[in-house]
Amino acid sequence: MDATPCSRVPDRDIFTSTDPDDIAAAKAVCSTCPFTKACLKAALELGEVGVWGGTTKAQRTRLNHTPRQPGRPRKPITHGTRQGYFQHRNRGEDACIECKRAASAHSKRMRASKRQAVAS
Ligand code: SF4
Ligand SMILES: [Zn+2]
Repeated sequence: MDATPCSRVPDRDIFTSTDPDDIAAAKAVCSTCPFTKACLKAALELGEVGVWGGTTKAQRTRLNHTPRQPGRPRKPITHGTRQGYFQHRNRGEDACIECKRAASAHSKRMRASKRQAVAS
């Protein structure tokens, strides 16, 4: 599969930022993406936070008004990953230390690659 436009953005944090300018920039990236539909569907299913498929979490919450069935088990959290970090956050809980580490390592890598891009 071709790389997604968001994977080529130097500062991927715009996809999880709450800054309106970042959100607008992330949505602009999604508007060039051929996978918007599939991406939105996955984000709705997984309850992702941040900009996915050109929508914010709040927009998806309005789209996805099917309430969770009582007793239906939640998808288990993939601990020690950035995805896990967002799963915690999405449940309204504090991320565990492994997930926090993974998310912060990711941000560090992103900042480093941004610095590299600026330097080169
Ligand atoms: S639609 Fe999804 S895969 Fe495409 S750029 Fe946006 S976040 Fe990335
Ligand atoms: Zn965790």
